[in-house]
This record gives sequence, structure tokens and C-alpha cells, in this order.
Amino acid sequence: MMRYHMLKWNLFLLAVVLTGLAFPFLILGQQSPQTTPESIALEYLSKYEYAVDRSVTGKERAIKEAQGFLFMPGVEPTGKLDAYTVAAMQALRCGCPDHARASEYGEARATWPKGCYDNLLIHVDFAGSPYPESQLRPAFQDVLDGFMDVCGLGLSFTNDRSQANIVINWQAISGQTIGLGYYPNGTCQLGLRQHLDRSYRATIGFIQQLFAHELGHNLGFEHTNGGLMHPSIREPWSGIRKTDPTYSRLVKAYEQPSEPPVVLLPVRKPIGPKLPFEGKWLQLFELSTETSTGGWWN
Ligand SMILES: [Zn+2]
Repeated sequence: MMRYHMLKWNLFLLAVVLTGLAFPFLILGQQSPQTTPESIALEYLSKYEYAVDRSVTGKERAIKEAQGFLFMPGVEPTGKLDAYTVAAMQALRCGCPDHARASEYGEARATWPKGCYDNLLIHVDFAGSPYPESQLRPAFQDVLDGFMDVCGLGLSFTNDRSQANIVINWQAISGQTIGLGYYPNGTCQLGLRQHLDRSYRATIGFIQQLFAHELGHNLGFEHTNGGLMHPSIREPWSGIRKTDPTYSRLVKAYEQPSEPPVVLLPVRKPIGPKLPFEGKWLQLFELSTETSTGGWWN
């Protein structure tokens, strides 16, 4: 009996020792392949479509290029994988690649054709949204107004999902991605998607900016360093400034509809005195000083 107890204890101690030995390996095993600065950087560069070759200079060039988006405008990219760069690579951002040319997403130029962009219909499914529809709808309308102030786009909401050109919903999106907007394909298509992350908890101004950013993709625009199309959301929505790199691209792609031609009314120069006719006064006018042959009765 005594020996049996001893055996159980020995087995128990052996198990404790083995578990103790195994744990460091388990922890190391979880950490090493995924969380080194190098692996974080490589995953980031490949996910957002930076060209990386395996050489040291190739990696440095790609990191430098990514820093062009990660750093504030005016801060010089170094190409060095420092702690700040790694932290910035793990921050919340848009899931669209930084180096996808919009035109690669469709055969035609990735914007909405002239015939349909003066009346693009947008449907928003508010299920799962972080604020009530009564608050978000006017906030989103403000964003649409901001785009329409800049160029000749006509954007309005529709409750009919099947007729909408752009369909927006809130989803659980994994990782650091808080939004995703697909590019148009150069046709007046229906149902182009935009997804917003339902776990992104921010002020309404930041949610507006996220919606505006993804709408920018839906209208065919790629990422820029700074401004509305910066890959991460740095500031709340406050319209599209003239200094924003996307401002001129919006005007170029969706120019203001041409002003109606100015109709020059002929100078009505009376000829002769007013004449009584059927109880009214009639006056003969010249069409203009250049054409004295025409005239009409008034
Ligand atoms: Zn984006």
C-alpha cells in the first residue's frame, strides 16, 4: 500500500517537472514565429501589398515606403524597423492595400461613369452599428454633402437595398482592420460593398471619417499619405479640405457638371410710340441694335 502511494507521488512529481519544462517551450513556441518585429513587418508589408524582395536593401526600401504612410507628413522615413514603426504597423487601420492600383480591380477605369454618378444610391444596413440610426443617418448625410460640395457627384440614401449602387453594413472584422471599401469597376453596377467593423468604438466624428474614407474607395480612390485617404483614421470628419490630396482627384474624376449656357436676351429697344389695340397698349421692339429688321408686338 505504502509503495503504491509512493509510486503515485512519484508520477505526480514527474508530471509537475515535465509540465514545468514544457511550458517555456509552449510560450516560446507561441511567440517566436508570429511576434518578432521582423515577422510583424513582413506580414504587414505583404498584407498591404508592398513589393518586398528578400535582400536587406529590399526590405529596407519596403519599410521606408510603408513609413511614408505610417509616419505623420513631414517626418522622414528611415527604413529602420524601430519600436515606433512596429507599433504603428499594429495600429487600427483600413484593410485595403496601400499599393493596389484601383484600376486592377476592374477592366475599365475604376470610377463611376458619367451617366450614373450624378445619382448614386447608397443603402446602409444599420444592424450592429455603434450608434442608433437616428444619430448616424444625419451624420452620414453630412459626409455625402461634403463630397457633393467638392464635385459633381450626386449621392443619396435609399431604403431599397436591391436598387443601391453601394451597400454598407457593420461586420465583425478580425485583426487590426476597421473598415473595407471595394473599388468600382467602371460600370453603373449595383451592390458595391463597404464593411465597417462593429467592434470599432469611437466618437461619431471618427465613425463619419471611417465611412467617408471607405466611400472614397467606393468612388475609386487609393490611399494617400495624410488626408481623407490616409490608411488609418487620425482625425474626426470635418469635410474634405482643398489641401487634401483627394480633393483634386475628386474634381478630376467627377467634375462639376458644366454650367447651363448663359442665354443672352436681346436688348429690347422700343420702336415708335405705344399704339392702342383691343383695349391694350402695344409696343414694337427691335430684336437688337445689330438686327433692326426684326421686331414683335407686345
Ligand atoms: Zn482605405
